[in-house]
Amino acid sequence: MARNLTRTIDIGNLKIGSDTAIVIQSMCATPTRDIDATVGQVVQLHHAGAGIIRIAVDNNRDAVALKEIRQQTDACLSVDLQENYRVAVNVAPWVDKIRYNPGHLHHHERRKTWQQKVRFLVDVARDHDCALRVGINCGSVDPRLLEQQPQQDTPAAMLQSALEHCSFLDDIGFERYVVSLKDSDPYRVITANQHFAAARPDVPLHLGVTEAGMPPDGITKTRIAFEPLLGAGIGDTIRVSLTLPFEKKCNEIEAGRMILDDIAAGRMLNPVLNPMRLNIISCPSCSRVENEAFIELASDVKSLAGYARDQAITIAVMGCRVNGPGETNSADIGLWCGPKKVNLKRGEVDVGAFSYNEILPQVRIELDRLIAKKR
Ligand code: SF4
Repeated sequence: MARNLTRTIDIGNLKIGSDTAIVIQSMCATPTRDIDATVGQVVQLHHAGAGIIRIAVDNNRDAVALKEIRQQTDACLSVDLQENYRVAVNVAPWVDKIRYNPGHLHHHERRKTWQQKVRFLVDVARDHDCALRVGINCGSVDPRLLEQQPQQDTPAAMLQSALEHCSFLDDIGFERYVVSLKDSDPYRVITANQHFAAARPDVPLHLGVTEAGMPPDGITKTRIAFEPLLGAGIGDTIRVSLTLPFEKKCNEIEAGRMILDDIAAGRMLNPVLNPMRLNIISCPSCSRVENEAFIELASDVKSLAGYARDQAITIAVMGCRVNGPGETNSADIGLWCGPKKVNLKRGEVDVGAFSYNEILPQVRIELDRLIAKKR
């Protein structure tokens, strides 16, 4: 497969960049503090062929668990940070790569600039021989950049955020990083990554369609983005983000391998998304899921909404309170899951919180209301 000439960086014993094969990666969905379950999932993903396995760490208790996890596997590990960026110092000794989200560097320690926070992360990465990923996500774009865009153009703000972080990292002499620009809309993933690759052809890219949802639709959405990008030489590592039961997480790796093999063999399926049909977005789950019933709920919502398949309606089902509220904003109907309640939204408006037993009839009411409004 022809590749853009990106620089090749070391991530543990692995390399990412155009000098080496495209790496397939995945993420653990188990609670990080459940060491046995997380080691089990790391091993499962590693055996399935995941080159890098990401684990979410939100606090120092997770960091303590990570130390134990590290001692039980030699897989290449990456850590996913959220707002609490300073926890990096406690996790870096146990991982090979740290992913930070520029949009999350604005909530804690507001008196500090994002540049000071990135400098801190770079110092930590240097001290512990880690690479970084600048992970931009459509649901949590830097609010300062979003406000500057006419009509809050998210892909443009995502691109700007990625470019300014690359410039800053270059200025302070840190080149061991990859970038990702993820959106739940595969066409926006194509646009953002094409523009980024044109502006920074040297920087390795991690490709993904976030919250692609359940298979087979989630695989189709991912293909829509990956075929033109990888086919044009854009992309050095990939993740297929699918909503799956924990024990089937390795299906993400199989889907990634199938897509790569097909593209390499010229078997392009050129799928398209019909904007006039129902679109269900759901997150791939990670350790932040507080109730595993989320996965079954996503599947139940899909079944329930079958009668609306010919409606141009988007329903988002998210697994946690960390990213759920933001990443349901652009959907017509949004659900984000807490430990006991599911929060229901109509666009950006909160409708209420309902138990897992009560939520489906409420979704039906919202769906009927939307369909009636469209008539
Ligand atoms: S929405 Fe929450 S549970 Fe789902 S993948 Fe994102 S952070 Fe994890």
